Amino acid sequence: MSELAVMAKPGSTPLIDPYQRKITYLRVSVTDRCDFRCVYCMAEDMTFLPKAEILSLEELDRLCSAFVRMGVRKLRLTGGEPLVRRNIMSLFRALGRHVEAGDLDELTVTTNGSQLAKYAAELRDAGVRRINVSLDTLDPAKFAAITRWGKLAQVLDGLAAAKAAGLAVKINAVALKGVNEDEFDRMVAWCGDEGFDLTIIEVMPMGDIGPDRLDQYLPLSLVRARLAQKWRLEESAYRSGGPARYFTIGETGRRLGFITPLTHNFCESCNRVRLTCTGTLYMCLGQEDAADLRDPLRASEGDEALDAAIREAIGRKPKGHDFIIDRRHRGPAVPRHMSVTGG
Ligand code: SAM
Ligand code: SF4
Repeated sequence: MSELAVMAKPGSTPLIDPYQRKITYLRVSVTDRCDFRCVYCMAEDMTFLPKAEILSLEELDRLCSAFVRMGVRKLRLTGGEPLVRRNIMSLFRALGRHVEAGDLDELTVTTNGSQLAKYAAELRDAGVRRINVSLDTLDPAKFAAITRWGKLAQVLDGLAAAKAAGLAVKINAVALKGVNEDEFDRMVAWCGDEGFDLTIIEVMPMGDIGPDRLDQYLPLSLVRARLAQKWRLEESAYRSGGPARYFTIGETGRRLGFITPLTHNFCESCNRVRLTCTGTLYMCLGQEDAADLRDPLRASEGDEALDAAIREAIGRKPKGHDFIIDRRHRGPAVPRHMSVTGG
């Protein structure tokens, strides 16, 4: 295709926000449901969205494909637990066509790992090469306490299947005061043995989950200082455009990331937006402003209205978030749960 034809293609100019940040990364929460009830993420008795409000897999494909046409190069499916949505592999396969065509650099997933034993090989076939698996502890009893409904052995089986399928794995662990703070040393060693990268996440004030956030909050500066006594943490130039800072662990050669949304400002390099399973687009994880894409999506079979709604929304992307956890702000800074927007 000639350069002129590319330029003339409707809706194909890149998405640039008012602060000149290019939007190249879309995270999609494909369901708000989950087979776990992690204490920092959900209350035990969650009310989920009525199924009728949820976009179909075909609609999600159409929405994601519109973003890809507008320059998104990386798609992450998340949730809730993405792998519990019925027939979810059909969406992975449909989106995989963009990877094959060279229009997408990466199709990936964040999962709790419970269904990985079943799906790892299929994910790889669909074009997924790297996955994030959330795992906060290697202790079966603690795992059961944190996830309320999960079984560690099932996740470890899933991780083995992912390795066998040739998927690169990054473990995400949320740091919880008094719960897993003594375990990071062991997790660094375990990830080294398994060939996994590790990212440690500071707990974020999202959604009403019952217990007081102040009880969970553990600043990562502390975790890092403790790890640095035991391991050689070499500063890494690697950047993902998100809130993580990366190190390479000298002894294992694996990457170690710290996500500290509360103690560091990372918004200048933000390249991402988030879509919920009802078609609501959040321009910032830490702000309430959102745009409805479901109506324009359903209004016509053509994508003109949808493309216009996406561009209008990106034009409203805020400069940054303002999460605060302190004694004056005990409630959630953002009322929606992480499982709605997708982590
Ligand atoms: N169910 C999948 C999983 O657990 O990986 C995907 C969705 S989950 C909401 C995505 C990530 O958000 C997980 O790594 C989880 O640990 C993290 N998360 C959930 N609630 C959080 C919170 N309040 N603060 C920080 N991270 C949180
Ligand atoms: Fe489910 Fe993931 Fe939330 Fe845990 S963190 S309850 S696995 S969505």
